[in-house]
Amino acid sequence: MASRYDLIMVRFGELSTKGKNKKDFIQTLYTNIKNALKSFPSLEFEKLYDHIYIHLGEEDCEEVVERLKDVSGIHSISLVKRVVSDIEVIKATALELIKEEEGTTFKIKSKRANKEFPIKSDDINRAVATVILKNTDLKVNVHNPDILLSIEVRDEGTYIFSKTIPCLGGYPLGVAGKSLLMLSGGIDSPVAAYLLMRRGITLECIHFASPPYTNVGVIYKIRDLLKTLTKYQSQIRLTIIPFTEIQEAIYKNIDESYCITIMRRMMYRIAEKVARERHCKVIATGESVGQVASQTLDSLQAINEVTNFPIIRPLAVMDKLEIIKVAQHIKTYDISIRPFEDCCTIFAPKNPKTAPKLDEIRKFEAKIDYEAMIKTAIEKAEVEIIN
Ligand code: ATP
Ligand code: MG
Repeated sequence: MASRYDLIMVRFGELSTKGKNKKDFIQTLYTNIKNALKSFPSLEFEKLYDHIYIHLGEEDCEEVVERLKDVSGIHSISLVKRVVSDIEVIKATALELIKEEEGTTFKIKSKRANKEFPIKSDDINRAVATVILKNTDLKVNVHNPDILLSIEVRDEGTYIFSKTIPCLGGYPLGVAGKSLLMLSGGIDSPVAAYLLMRRGITLECIHFASPPYTNVGVIYKIRDLLKTLTKYQSQIRLTIIPFTEIQEAIYKNIDESYCITIMRRMMYRIAEKVARERHCKVIATGESVGQVASQTLDSLQAINEVTNFPIIRPLAVMDKLEIIKVAQHIKTYDISIRPFEDCCTIFAPKNPKTAPKLDEIRKFEAKIDYEAMIKTAIEKAEVEIIN
């Protein structure tokens, strides 16, 4: 990238809201950007109404750009040069900058946001193009130029840039409140995590562990998954629920075909209590309709019946290949496919019910004192903060 660009222009994501919401959006994004770039001491930040600017100082711009690509709420960024809004300065700078670009054809695209600037955008285009044609071998191509040099005249100065890098989009993390995500060691739930964070939803995670049936490797896997996700949210709280006693009670007392349904109901019951305690506004899971017996609409209805709490299932209608693609993109896939079994796979019945009946469920659940076991499990939960 050309070394003469000394500033990064940050464009905002989906900013359909106005007024106070817009202010919150920008303030949150500004804080998140500063946090994400904490390790670059010489950067300086500037927050204006329409954009955030980052002065690069001594820092390596490629590294800063890479980091910004993982910050939700950023629509795109450009490496820019800011100069005073004076046509002679604009012409000279544009010429300098375009000499560093690769290609043989160009187009100038000007935007005059500051209407007090006396020259109209078409005339800026013409004036700048003339200087470039006179001083270089470049030719104009308005339909498919190798180099598109943009010039934006704003109140505080004029920006000149040639590249726009698309970023995550969505909302800044934190503007949409907090969700409790049920995180297994599988492929799906980390993808759900990413999709939630991209909507501005902060995450806490809950994991149900059933030692000695589940290997301690599952916990390492969970930690590694969360570490990978800390590039989107720098700190993630994980609650690990000891689930063995509940699972054993289920498998001793309940007809095998109903075990998964009832186990999932227990998970939801516990998740709801933890979510309330932690001021999470929703519970989220990696469930996807039809993927397994416990994720048919009938099963989801039977499982969801234990709670009024809002449940978000970001993957509900995605197919597995789409989910895997995202998992690979966010680099959780290779961790997820490590061969450790989780509590669901170990106890998986041969013939799980795809359409469980509520009266049957109630009859089975009456056989175990689950309220007491749930209380104990929550009391014995362990908490970790992943940074
Ligand atoms: P995943 O790939 O996320 O494990 P899955 O397709 O294997 O999903 P299930 O095992 O039925 O499906 O789990 C569905 C969802 O339930 C998971 O995405 C996750 O949100 C939650 N879940 C399952 N097992 C656990 C667990 N041990 N701890 C926490 N959440 C779990
Ligand atoms: Mg699973």
